[in-house]
Amino acid sequence: FTADDSAADAANATTPANRQDGLIPREVARRRTFGIISHPDAGKTTLTEKLLLFSGAIQLAGTVKGRKSGRHATSDWMDIEKQRGISVASSVMQFEFRDHVVNLLDTPGHQDFSEDTYRVLTAVDSALMVIDAAKGVEEQTIKLLGVCRMRDTPIVTFMNKMDRETRDPLELLDEVESVLKIECAPVTWPIGMGKNFRGVYHLLKDEIMLFKAGEEKADGAFEIVKGIDNPKLAAMFPLEIEQLKMEVELVHGASHTFDLERFLSGVQTPVFFGSAINNFGVREILSALVDWAPAPRERDATVRAVEPEEPKFSGFVFKIQANMDPAHRDRIAFLRVCSGRFEKGMKVKHLRLQRDVKLSSVVTFMASSREQVEEAYAGDIIGLPNHGNMQIGDSFSEGEMLTFTGIPYFAPDLFRTVRIRNPLKVKQLHKGLQQLGEEGAVQVFKPVLGSDLILGAVGVLQFEVVASRLLNEYGVDAVFETSSISSARWVSSEDKKSLSDFENQLGHQVAYDAAGNLAFLATSGVNLRLTQERWPKLTFHATREHA
Ligand code: GDP
Repeated sequence: FTADDSAADAANATTPANRQDGLIPREVARRRTFGIISHPDAGKTTLTEKLLLFSGAIQLAGTVKGRKSGRHATSDWMDIEKQRGISVASSVMQFEFRDHVVNLLDTPGHQDFSEDTYRVLTAVDSALMVIDAAKGVEEQTIKLLGVCRMRDTPIVTFMNKMDRETRDPLELLDEVESVLKIECAPVTWPIGMGKNFRGVYHLLKDEIMLFKAGEEKADGAFEIVKGIDNPKLAAMFPLEIEQLKMEVELVHGASHTFDLERFLSGVQTPVFFGSAINNFGVREILSALVDWAPAPRERDATVRAVEPEEPKFSGFVFKIQANMDPAHRDRIAFLRVCSGRFEKGMKVKHLRLQRDVKLSSVVTFMASSREQVEEAYAGDIIGLPNHGNMQIGDSFSEGEMLTFTGIPYFAPDLFRTVRIRNPLKVKQLHKGLQQLGEEGAVQVFKPVLGSDLILGAVGVLQFEVVASRLLNEYGVDAVFETSSISSARWVSSEDKKSLSDFENQLGHQVAYDAAGNLAFLATSGVNLRLTQERWPKLTFHATREHA
């Protein structure tokens, strides 16, 4: 024994309190929290199902499918409602894989693309990007990846649908690199495509996984052939294997080799090819997430950074969703645990309200059901019942004033003026919009002059959802009309006089949002630019963080 060894032994040997000391770091280290991002139809739902299938969390594929019913009839409230109800349970899924606890956060990437999507990405430690290999990089992938890049979130890439005629794989990598500005490090390489899809070659392991179509293969055990020069392969598909050898040479020469550090810093993405519907390449994705993706890391808060291993509990709300039963108007606040250990029934401090709350009926999101949670650690998501006392961005701790930063509101691109048919309902309208605004369903601006409210959104479906919910939950029949507003900027300044002059002079275009922040509503790009030039002492922000 050296002195060091015995000291370490003494520390490990091991009163119960010591064991407890190691508990939080151990639990943090085995957690992986990621979101899936993709353009509609790339295969996100299919892949999610297969991931759950692998973990044993669901018995048969098809469980996740339910929420898709009616996704093309987005204007039908019942469908939205149905979808929303089901997605409360399926928008966060927790399962175990190889002794890791995996939290998978769904990012609504469909027609209902909205601010929610952005904010979900603030609660993950890594992301899985699904690309339809026949289509390449599409619009919503670009938007979502942009959000990931703001925080240097590590990205794993899955090129899906290799069982179809796809684009040339080298060209796909080129496109990802040039459009998304992220280095690609292929980890598997496809052999053929479409009808001639034979499998993938694992560039790091030098082995070939043979493709076999068939949806129900739950264990994903595909035949593996060792070595690209294995004569067995040349016998099976001589043409494709020659092609593969050529491509692999090219790939080794022209593309990047996987580098864990570069992946973790968000500048490089490992790329896998496969077919979600055939469950092919899915296990490799899960392994990459478990082996390479980061465990929860430190998070910035106003006064200091918070380490996930700290003994005291802390976390923030990143999403609020109406519950299954709209009649009760209760909502679930999704909280990401950032440090410490959450225990059912514990008392925590709601820092914005400076109030102690007891967290007794909290839900967790085991993929198979919504269960009562007993404990949770950094990276886990817990659902808090919310009766209107929680907003997006609210932070919770065991008492320390820690407001987590970086939960963004984005300046909306779409605007509507709200009118109501029955003026007697104006109070309900305001109440409804206030609550929906806090929930992040839409942004609500109240101009300093004039009585119309202006709604802002980043996705047009947000307006439909808000109109339906106003009617169903608040009994308000609201009409949304085209607005002359084309963009919004939050305004701040050290110079209080400039601010109040601004408010007084431009009252029709100056408004307060639901959280009481001052904003400028511009009618055009030129209008915005000129206003900025005329008011040099003011700063105009395209995003604001929850304060
Ligand atoms: P999402 O909109 O991204 O959630 O996409 P879905 O998972 O709903 O998939 C869109 C369509 O692509 C569905 O018809 C799927 O059956 C199909 N699909 C998904 N994965 C594959 C695949 O690997 N190969 C093929 N041929 N089709 C797939």
